Amino acid sequence: MIFDVMTLFPEMIDYCMHESVIGRAVKKGIITVNCFNIRDYSTDRHRHVDDYPYGGGAGMVMQPGPIYDCYADIMAGKETKPRVVYLTPQGRIFDQPLANELAREEEIIFLCGHYEGVDERILEEIVTDNVSIGDYVLTGGEMPAMIMIDAIARQVEGVLGSSESAANDSFQDGLLEYPQYTRPEEFHGMRVPDVLLSGHHGNIDLWRRRQSLKRTLERRPDLLEKVRQSGGLSAEDRELLAGLQEEVPGSGQ
Ligand code: SAM
Repeated sequence: MIFDVMTLFPEMIDYCMHESVIGRAVKKGIITVNCFNIRDYSTDRHRHVDDYPYGGGAGMVMQPGPIYDCYADIMAGKETKPRVVYLTPQGRIFDQPLANELAREEEIIFLCGHYEGVDERILEEIVTDNVSIGDYVLTGGEMPAMIMIDAIARQVEGVLGSSESAANDSFQDGLLEYPQYTRPEEFHGMRVPDVLLSGHHGNIDLWRRRQSLKRTLERRPDLLEKVRQSGGLSAEDRELLAGLQEEVPGSGQ
């Protein structure tokens, strides 16, 4: 899968793309991250890429020309247009279903804004998806792009090793994941739950499902409600939840 990132700060992206799981996937050639420095497309002799906003007001706005030329360079020779994501606090909130959906694309282009943002006309011309990573404002789109690339890439076949799996992760089935434990069996007086040491896979699966429901009920009842409404709870889940009402204060209302 190919990620093309249009940015004023390619070093920020480059650094992250060579570390850990994503770095390994890049090395193996499963994913490719191409960074394009928008400043390289400035026609200004001082390499300016921004200017004052029409109508006045604070800050600077990224000009459409260099972004368009950068985009045209990425598009040269392509027969189909990949999805073009503009990272913006004004976009659809990024979540696991969107990460899973985007992981099915062969190539995605990201546009990272900076300063007060980007001239609206280039957004109208090239962007297919406006995406936000949350209801807060950051200084630039680089970190949001990295977050999206990380979440999308780990859904791409071969990126996670055979011992790692995204299938049980939080959000994949709409719920939060169950708690995890590793050695030692006892730590600061706290023991690993006996069931996990029992070797009984049926009981372990049941315990994990119950914990997953419990954790979601405690921490994100909104998610549980969504799963309930979409028919994602089995009869066994509903039974487990009925038993959890007493354990989780306030969950019976
Ligand atoms: N003036 C803009 C507004 O109020 O919508 C905010 C501009 S912000 C300071 C600069 C850039 O950071 C944006 O163009 C965008 O690329 C990026 N950015 C900031 N917050 C973001 C968020 N929550 N999600 C995605 N991108 C964000």
